[in-house]
Amino acid sequence: MLATGCTYGKGNIHKLFWGKWALTLVDKRTSRAIRASMRPEAMERALEGPFLKQRLAGVLPSNVPQDIAQEQFDGIVAASDEGLFTIGEPFKFQWSPPPTTFQVMRCESCGELTVLRHMRVSDEGKRVCVGCARSAFDYPTDLALTRGPEHHQWPFPPNSH
Ligand SMILES: [Zn+2]
Repeated sequence: MLATGCTYGKGNIHKLFWGKWALTLVDKRTSRAIRASMRPEAMERALEGPFLKQRLAGVLPSNVPQDIAQEQFDGIVAASDEGLFTIGEPFKFQWSPPPTTFQVMRCESCGELTVLRHMRVSDEGKRVCVGCARSAFDYPTDLALTRGPEHHQWPFPPNSH
C-alpha cells in the first residue's frame, strides 16, 4: 500500500483470496499491468524464521521481542527486489470500473436482501448469500450478473521467469 498508493480505504485494491503472496498492478490510464509475486524461497525463509515462530506460538506482533522483529525487518529491507520478488513483463489489461448499482435481491435460501454481486450460485442454480453458501468460496460469484464477460478473465498470466 505504501509503495503503490493503493489502499483498501480507497477501494482500489481487490483481494482475490487465493492464499498467495502476489499482486497484479494495473495502470488504468495506459491499460497495462504487471504481476509480482514473492519468491517462494524468500517467503519460506521468512516463514521458518524466528518472527513467524513467535507468531505461530500465539504471540501478538506487538509482543514479539524487539530484536527478533528488528532482525526480520532488517532482512527484508536489505534484500534486493530480485531476491524477494518475481516480476513479470508488462501486459495489456483493460480495466473497467464495476458499475455503481444498487442491484439487490433476496437470498433464495434465507430471504435476506443481499447486494447482487456478493451472492453465490449454488449447485442447484439458486442465488444465495455468502452465509447460506456452505462457505464463501464453495460457489462461484456470478460476475456475469453485474459485470461484462471480460471480467471473468483476471490478469494472471504465467510468470515469464
Ligand atoms: Zn441467505
